[in-house]
Formats: sequence, structure tokens, C-alpha cells
Amino acid sequence: METDVSALRRESPRLQTAMRAFAMLGIGRTGWIEKPRPVCGPLDAICRPIALAPCTSDIHTVWEGALGDRHNLVLGHEGVGEVVEVGSLVRDFKPGDRVIVPAITPDWSASESQGGYSMHDRGMLGGWKFSNTKDGLFAEYFHVNDADGNLAHLPSGLEPATAVLLSDMAPTGLHGAELANIAFGDTVCVIGVGPVGLMAVRGAVLRGASRIFAVGSRRKCFDVALAYGATDLLSYKNGGLAEQILKLTGGRGVDRVIVAGGGVETFEDAVKMLVPGGTIANINYLGEGEYVKIPRAEWGVGMGHKTIRGGLMPGGRRRMERLAAMVLAGRLTPGLLITHRFEGLESVEDALLLMKDKPPDLIKPVITVSWE
Ligand code: NAD
Ligand code: ZN
Repeated sequence: METDVSALRRESPRLQTAMRAFAMLGIGRTGWIEKPRPVCGPLDAICRPIALAPCTSDIHTVWEGALGDRHNLVLGHEGVGEVVEVGSLVRDFKPGDRVIVPAITPDWSASESQGGYSMHDRGMLGGWKFSNTKDGLFAEYFHVNDADGNLAHLPSGLEPATAVLLSDMAPTGLHGAELANIAFGDTVCVIGVGPVGLMAVRGAVLRGASRIFAVGSRRKCFDVALAYGATDLLSYKNGGLAEQILKLTGGRGVDRVIVAGGGVETFEDAVKMLVPGGTIANINYLGEGEYVKIPRAEWGVGMGHKTIRGGLMPGGRRRMERLAAMVLAGRLTPGLLITHRFEGLESVEDALLLMKDKPPDLIKPVITVSWE
């Protein structure tokens, strides 16, 4: 359905009732649709995007149907926006504020959130709302639940295109290092150094890892892995990963493995390369396959103290504020992930298709949107 976007834009944001959005139409199908502009509840905010990024998760969702079918679901969950409307109970944000929007926007009053697992509010993965259980950010307007708990003010020194990487890439990658429980001196293998794995490399450095093995295949990603502090680069295309790691470590293996790429089969290698007492942290979205296989013997016939954890990134305001502070302090340079820049909401389609095709020089595309 075509809409006259310029005519819509001439109306004031508060009067506009219809909007244009880029959506998943069904498994394997995307397109532009018209939808009603979202309605603001008392605790919520309505924003329009000023920076956006597509995510590999959108690829799993649309082209692998990993979450099941979705019809006319607006895509996108990584963004920086401008607030256009807030609910009557919102205290800290007002129209005109520029905000970082986390990919995960929990309901902070849920019992699971109070128990420390806000990413699973009211059920598994419940904090992941955008482009999963509600419309995402690839639209003229988007809705943010619990605005005071989920939005963060964009600091003046941070450009929106860099800040958009704090929505998902940085919090997910750093969560890999948290889940892996990295201690000073640990050796770490990061399997899959796309943007998430690269942030995990940085997370491992910040938590005091010694040797960090970055597993990938593309030169561009390896360059950034080195810049973030990886010490060894390995290609998963050069034969068995566990064998490569065991060879490089004199048969010992590594203390921690962070899985940020590959499929269900990666766990076999991860368990094999892990020392007894070590931890595997999965932050990868396993889009295909029924089961994860754990090799019995290398798991210490069930008694190896080899822990496997997996988690969705923690979202919310505090996480965004703290990541922004890390960037301003120079501890985190997510901007190095940006390889392709686009302008205008319409280009989310090209950026998403680029993500799907994964050309060798791609790490992460970002889109900036101007509303003048
Ligand atoms: P990406 O596809 O850009 O990167 C994955 C990397 O893995 C690629 O660089 C690829 O070279 C490498 N790879 C592919 N097959 C491999 C194999 N067999 N062994 C080792 N490496 C292999 O993806 P990304 O954007 O970096 O995201 C990584 C994963 O994290 C995706 O599955 C994404 O959906 C998921 N994700 C999870 C969360 C979360 O909260 N846990 C949030 C965002 C994204
Ligand atoms: Zn994502």
C-alpha cells in the first residue's frame, strides 16, 4: 500500500494518525506498509527515529522464520530517537528529547524483572518486544513502553550513529563477557566475530582476559578484533575449531568461550575446547536446528564442571546510560563497527538486505534519519 509520505510529514506529529513502516509481511517476505500511528499510554513515549540499524536477528526472524510467522510486524529494534509525545505519568522525558532506545524494553514492574531477569518479563524473552511481539522501530513513529525505565537521554557528545550501537550490539557483546564470568588472566575464545562477537572481544578485554582467540573468516572483522584487543585470529573455515584451539594452547584449551556466531553445531567445538571448570556463554540467536549436541566424553562424561549459559541482553535505561558513559570515557569504541552508512528512513530496506547478503566488507550498517 503506497502512502504520500510528504503529505503525512506536513501534518504535525501529534495530528498524524497513519504512518509508513517497513515490516515483515510473512516468513521470507518484507515490504512497506501503512499502519496507524501508535498510541501513547500514561507511562509510555512515542518517538521518531533519528538513527537506526538492522540486526542479524531480523534476518533470523524474517528469512529463517525462527520465531514463527509474523504478519505486518514492523521490523527494527536498534535505534536512537526523538521523543514526540509522552504519557501523563512520565517524569524524566519530554517531547524534543533525544534518546537511546534499547532493543530490550522490559516491563519493570514484572515479577521476573524484580527477580533480576527483566529480559524475561512475564515469560521467556518477554523483554524483547520490538520486532518480536510488537511493532519495531523501522517506522515514522514507534512506541516505547515504560519510558522512564527504558529510555536514556542521548549525551551531547555522542553522535546518534554511534549511539545506535548501544541499543543491541554493545549490550549483547558485553553480556557475553558477563555470562562467561571472565576473571583476570582467563583465556577466552570468541566464536563468530561479527558486530556482537567483536563487542564480546572488547568485553573480554575490559574484564581482564589474557589471550583472546577471535574466530571468524572476514578480514574486516579481524581488523576490528585486533583493534579491540584480540591476540589470536582463527578461521572456522580452516578445519575443526576445537583442534585449532587445542593446538594453539598446547592441548590445554580455554577458560571461557563466548558463542556469537555459527549454528547449533558450534557447541560441540565449544565443549571440546573448554577446560574443566570453564564456562561457555552463548549470546547467539540459534535460528535453526532442533537440538544442541553436547559431546559426552569431552563434557567429562557429565562431570567436567563445564558450564553452559545463554542469555538475552539486559536492556533498560540504566544499561544504556552506563554504556554511553563507557563510550564517553573512551573505554568502548562501537563506532569502529560501522562499515556502511545510509540516510533516510527509506534506506532501512537496503540496509537490511545488505545485512542478509553479508558482503565481505560489512560489519554493521547504520541509517540516520532527518525530519527537517
Ligand atoms: P553476524 O552474522 O554479523 O556475525 C556472526 C559471525 O559468525 C560472522 O562474522 C561469521 O563469520 C561467523 N560465523 C559463521 N559461521 C560460523 C561458524 N560455524 N563458526 C564460527 N563463526 C562463524 O551476526 P551478529 O550481528 O554479530 O550477531 C551474532 C548473533 O547474535 C546473531 O545470531 C544475532 O541474532 C544474535 N544476537 C543476540 C542477541 C542477544 O541478546 N543474545 C542480541 C543481538 C543479536
Ligand atoms: Zn538485535
